[in-house]
Amino acid sequence: MTGSPPVPPAPVASEDPRRVEIADRLHDVSSRIAAATARAGRPAGSVTLIAVTKTFGLDDVRRLADLGVADVGESRDQEAAAKAAELPALRWHFVGRLQRNKARSVAAYAACVHSIDRAALADALGAAAGRVRRTVDVCLQVSLDGDPQRGGAPVEALGGLADSVARCGGLRLAGLMAVPPLSWDPDRAYAELARAAGDLRHDHPDAIMLSAGMTADFEQAIVHGATHVRVGTALLGGRPPIVG
Ligand SMILES: *Cc1c(COP(=O)(O)O)cnc(C)c1O
Repeated sequence: MTGSPPVPPAPVASEDPRRVEIADRLHDVSSRIAAATARAGRPAGSVTLIAVTKTFGLDDVRRLADLGVADVGESRDQEAAAKAAELPALRWHFVGRLQRNKARSVAAYAACVHSIDRAALADALGAAAGRVRRTVDVCLQVSLDGDPQRGGAPVEALGGLADSVARCGGLRLAGLMAVPPLSWDPDRAYAELARAAGDLRHDHPDAIMLSAGMTADFEQAIVHGATHVRVGTALLGGRPPIVG
């Protein structure tokens, strides 16, 4: 070892045990994404990890950013707006249900909104984005079982909704998003989502984003073509239940 430059001291785990924990979890999730991508015969790097940071503090978002995460997801506007104001260099994804009266706020920080499920919402978001001279990527959220309670448009409505979004200034139709219905096998859910995504690309060939897969099922989603997985628990641990 003589002659080699001085090696900086290894980071001391006790300096920030939470950083070490998150680094370990991120390493595990990233390895699993890479392995699933390879197993599916897809190109390395074709799946983007969105770290879902809802309910976790800004310190955890900073730790993730330090570790190289560029895409973060949030599901409530008030929380997302506050975090995005502190860390504007990250790509903020709004993945929760969007209310029309929040469109203006969300349009100011979101790079991508994953949960557009009706034309009125697209109109409101597009108008808000136009006012601040931004273009927001949009995924149509698909309700695979047609249950309106959990958000999402039924598969039959996607074509019309896609055309509405494509006509909105301020928005770019990026693709589709879904959360598997509670009682469904995720494999079946993601197979149906992939079919809907193929249909969408027929008329909108640039809408290639497929936002699918969470902690419990992201490897299955990757098999079915997910380009973006939205992972919270596996990266940051359990969340207290949230209301609303
Ligand atoms: C919370 C949330 C996630 C992340 O879920 P985990 O199971 O914690 O990975 C993904 N997508 C949406 C829409 C969410 O609300």
